[in-house]
Amino acid sequence: MNSIIEVKHLKKNYGDKEVLKDINAEIEKGKVITVIGPSGSGKSTFLRCLNLLEKPTSGQVLFEGTELTDLKSDDLDKLRQKMGMVFQNFNLFPNMNVLENIKLAPMKVKGMADGEATALAHKLLKKVGLDEFADHTPTSLSGGQQQRVAIARALAMKPEVMLFDEPTSALDPEMVGEVLKTIQDLATSGMTMVIVTHEMGFARKVSDEVWFMADGYLQEKGSPDEVFDHPTSDRAKDFLAKIL
Ligand code: ADP
Ligand code: MG
Repeated sequence: MNSIIEVKHLKKNYGDKEVLKDINAEIEKGKVITVIGPSGSGKSTFLRCLNLLEKPTSGQVLFEGTELTDLKSDDLDKLRQKMGMVFQNFNLFPNMNVLENIKLAPMKVKGMADGEATALAHKLLKKVGLDEFADHTPTSLSGGQQQRVAIARALAMKPEVMLFDEPTSALDPEMVGEVLKTIQDLATSGMTMVIVTHEMGFARKVSDEVWFMADGYLQEKGSPDEVFDHPTSDRAKDFLAKIL
């Protein structure tokens, strides 16, 4: 079995609102999936269900064959660490400098020694091109730089999958490129990724598969060419006509 994440008949309700109705999907190791679709269609809810930040109402999420929905919290935490998440608003800890932001989880959660965590943090900062900002506070950085730090911080836990929820939506236009470039480098390095994005040019370039979500379902799944150039559902045709 090559899939790292499997989703079977996933449903999620908030009260009597059915947000995810019946989601079925597989994510293969090393693949880049982008999830597109209208605002409010459940993309963030779906991502949060993948690592059980949000508890599914029913259905299954399997990570490397282990059903997450069955796990006790300690075991769940261990598997969750294998999924790094990057949010729209960076969510860096404002009272810590950049280096400390990256070191925190490896030290606290994994018990990594200070020296090792420092070396790791510098290595990751170099990777995202920000090592010279190691002792800066997050708020002294631009939005694009903060998001690159957030990516480095997620990578510090050595995840097997990275989940991105609209990583460039909060950025000024001139900063979008540097963040997309960082994500693209990760893709090239073979990282398995699920990326919710409105950047269609980027999605077309970087994705192995594009998934279109609307009305609680993944309405289309396919290669970028299939989904962008030959959508089959009216819902996807309509959405793409508005944004492309
Ligand atoms: P998207 O990311 O595609 O914009 P979301 O997953 O954020 O969509 O939201 C899908 C729907 O679920 C929206 O109608 C939203 O208002 C609702 N929703 C999301 N989170 C919650 C929550 N914690 N409680 C209640 N409703 C929520
Ligand atoms: Mg969202």
